[in-house]
Amino acid sequence: MSDHSAEIISVGTELLLGEILNTNAQFLAQELARLGIAHYYQTVVGDNILRLQKAVAIGCERSRLLIFTGGLGPTPDDLTTEALADFFQVPLIERAEVLAEISEKFARRGRQMSPSNRKQALFPVGAEVLPNPTGSAPGMIWQPRPGLILMTFPGVPSEMKVMWQQTAVPYLRSQGWGAAIIYSRTLRFWGIAESTLAEKVADQLALQNPTVAPYAGKGEVRLRISAKAPTEAEALQIIAPVEQQIQAIAGLDYYGSDDDSLASVVGCLLKQAGQTVAVAESCTGGGLGQFLTSIAGSSAYFRGGIISYDNQIKIDLLGVSPDILLQHGAVSEPVAQQMAVGAREQLNATWGLSITGVAGPDGGTETKPVGLVYVGIAGPNGVESHRHQFGESRGRDSIRWLSLCAVLDTLRRKLLQPS
Ligand code: ATP
Repeated sequence: MSDHSAEIISVGTELLLGEILNTNAQFLAQELARLGIAHYYQTVVGDNILRLQKAVAIGCERSRLLIFTGGLGPTPDDLTTEALADFFQVPLIERAEVLAEISEKFARRGRQMSPSNRKQALFPVGAEVLPNPTGSAPGMIWQPRPGLILMTFPGVPSEMKVMWQQTAVPYLRSQGWGAAIIYSRTLRFWGIAESTLAEKVADQLALQNPTVAPYAGKGEVRLRISAKAPTEAEALQIIAPVEQQIQAIAGLDYYGSDDDSLASVVGCLLKQAGQTVAVAESCTGGGLGQFLTSIAGSSAYFRGGIISYDNQIKIDLLGVSPDILLQHGAVSEPVAQQMAVGAREQLNATWGLSITGVAGPDGGTETKPVGLVYVGIAGPNGVESHRHQFGESRGRDSIRWLSLCAVLDTLRRKLLQPS
């Protein structure tokens, strides 16, 4: 039997049929990680007594804490308590105080308790009742044999969470579980491939406490640094030097931590510098403005934007030259530059950002394939543009997202390292 490890056993045929997502297991898994309790297995089993008992037999061979959710209701297919009592050959007794509480809860809601609810007052001899303050089915904490703890919770997620936090966690701590917590920080990077970053921070990836693990998605790379320690403050002390080393190694490719986004980081830098930004968007259709304004307080630095989807709007509102449009096409360096200058001048901002590209799925040509995007940036020292080829296979939403992140990242680097 492994030392102090927990296993989650989710009971419910609905789960096996894929009708509902196992959010209870997700919540409990996060909680176990937060408490630093090792957790190596999860099981999902239907409302079937024999299969449930089989899961118990396997679970108690390999784990010392079995956490059950579901199957505590009043109907015949709610079998969890019964299955456990039968498995450990312990009789069920009706707990008068639980029965009184259930009937009182019904009375308070002006309803009559049905005879089937009596079942919810049955517990194996020796089990402690785990109160359910927000629902009718209580759970239990039971040590059917030395060194093995069983906990049962109703399936309803909101009820389960309250019971877990109010009673189960204090109980586990009192039993010496969760003496250490696991605390994590996520560092975010833009403009570097996961493999390149992993090579650069190979020494940090080999650490044991804290551990460092790379993740990639939506164009960015993240490194999660997790430390195990008795308190959050001590975990942070373990994390801090490694975080500093990684930031120094990554340089400008590191853009923020935890809940930071490119928009929030750029917003902070603009605010610090007392500067403003305006945008001219074509293929992103307002997404850049949306992203920038999703940050509370963005009115301090975001002037506004022009969604110049149509070429005539690029000409009329941004001052893009008709000749340049004709000669180079809307998706081109000079148009991106003129759009950025137009946004900066028309909207009276320190910086003008622009995006023009082929987001697809149609509209690509041999010379201008889907995924080709130009971003422009106009500032106090002039204007420049950058060409990106995000690739057709990524799809329209991704191409649009990468485009607006790319232009924000360009501004971020400029604000951090003015030329
Ligand atoms: P009740 O007393 O309400 O009958 P119960 O313990 O019998 O609770 P179930 O009947 O198994 O629990 O589930 C009640 C509801 O809780 C389900 O309809 C489902 O919506 C939700 N639920 C059950 N298990 C899970 C789970 N693992 N993750 C998320 N939701 C769940």
